[in-house]
Amino acid sequence: DLYQRFAQSFARFADKVAIEADTRDWTYRELDMAAGRLATRLGERGVAAGERVLVQTAKSVETVVLYLATLRIGAIYLPLNVEYTEAELAYFVADATPVIAVCQDESRDLFRRIGGDKLAIATLDELFTDLPDGLAPPVARQPDDIAAILYTSGTTGKPKGAMLTHRNLISNAETLVEFWRFTSEDRLIHALPIFHVHGLFVALHCALFSGATIIFQAKFNARAVIAAMADATVMMGVPTFYTRLLGEADFTRQATSKMRLFVSGSAPMSADVHRAFEARTGHRVLERYGMTETGMLTSNPYDGERKAGFVGPPLPGVSVRIASEDGSPLSQGDVGIVEVKGPNVFAGYWQMPEKTASEFREGGWFITGDMGLIDADGYIQLVGREKDLIITGGLNVYPAEVEALLDDRDDVAEAAVIGVPHPDFGEAVVAIVRAAGTIDTDAVRDAMKRDLAGFKVPKQVIAVDELPRNTMGKIQKKLLRERYASLYS
Ligand code: ATP
Ligand code: MG
Repeated sequence: DLYQRFAQSFARFADKVAIEADTRDWTYRELDMAAGRLATRLGERGVAAGERVLVQTAKSVETVVLYLATLRIGAIYLPLNVEYTEAELAYFVADATPVIAVCQDESRDLFRRIGGDKLAIATLDELFTDLPDGLAPPVARQPDDIAAILYTSGTTGKPKGAMLTHRNLISNAETLVEFWRFTSEDRLIHALPIFHVHGLFVALHCALFSGATIIFQAKFNARAVIAAMADATVMMGVPTFYTRLLGEADFTRQATSKMRLFVSGSAPMSADVHRAFEARTGHRVLERYGMTETGMLTSNPYDGERKAGFVGPPLPGVSVRIASEDGSPLSQGDVGIVEVKGPNVFAGYWQMPEKTASEFREGGWFITGDMGLIDADGYIQLVGREKDLIITGGLNVYPAEVEALLDDRDDVAEAAVIGVPHPDFGEAVVAIVRAAGTIDTDAVRDAMKRDLAGFKVPKQVIAVDELPRNTMGKIQKKLLRERYASLYS
């Protein structure tokens, strides 16, 4: 089980620093001891194997220890974004029926209201006060037992609780450690949130499995990240981290000379940013693709070509195919829906057997809902989500193609292309852009007419100050579609 895998690192790298935080360093042994003592405390509070431990706290090393303690006691970890509202939290509590909510002091009353007396409530501070000396013995779990429930980001609809097994998490992490060449020499800059697959599993597991040191930053701050690079080897980030780093004049070849790897994912990185990053630093960002339900699916290679605008071939042990809407496999180069199979694929949506069944094909293929193609070199290129596909006058427009053209322009900083209801065409293509300096949106449209078939050219290009993004840097197209729904009616 996953805790046993961590325990191997705790023993092997006992005196090495596992986490460097602002306040203090934590060795691997200290993490193990703290997890053991906290697991005893959780036991006192009524947490047992198989129960859900809901966690909605600010990012801290104590939260990481809580994650480890939850696994150690055989319970199920359920982390939540601190930005969720009361209505959203009520849904998560009713859905997942946790035995305890570990929350921030200010959310206590809220959890009391929505959880009733059955839900124990504690802050991290409380749990850590006068920790018992006794170390709870690790409770063994089977590979197919659930280790964590993570809710999807809710980009396309209501968040769904993905049940992730010990096998899912271990297999994906082992694959990444090897594929990205993690060793105990590595020092990883960790500025991601830890309620999401990227910061929690990809980043923490890669580092802790390999005996590396995590440079733990509570929030992304470009200045702090650049300072940390003087003595770091790897960084993992969402595309917005990289754009923000490029906004700093002293983010240069010199500043990144100690780094061996920059990984990007969770949202598309534009080919434009990929090239700008290389021009500035000499490093080619390694873009990978994953999702809550499957962990990491594809990755650009460590040694081979890292193609801008592509998410790379499937990871070892993971199978990816492109299929039509009815599930028949398509040929190389054809655009269709990305389907995936492998030990990384989750056990289903929590308490949603029908939804789970409808998202799997015969033979165990999981339907990702992303659209893309596989090129002649076996690299996958994503062209947008199925739900974001635009059908205008009966013809398909893949937003990524139009966005890439816009991103390439000097007067566009970033772009989101959406479909909005239109009386004649069904949907009209509309581009929402954040300008870099001044922009003449009519000129943008005219230029696009030269590069794109007429039906793909945005009927309108609308300049805005900011594109709505969630914490993971994902553009909220659902929100944009709502905002511009009556543009043509
Ligand atoms: P929901 O499923 O609730 O609508 P979500 O799909 O955004 O939300 P996540 O599981 O956090 O929730 O995100 C997975 C999705 O993120 C993928 O399906 C894909 O669309 C997108 N994604 C991840 N990595 C990349 C990448 N490198 N390039 C493009 N898209 C990516
Ligand atoms: Mg999704």
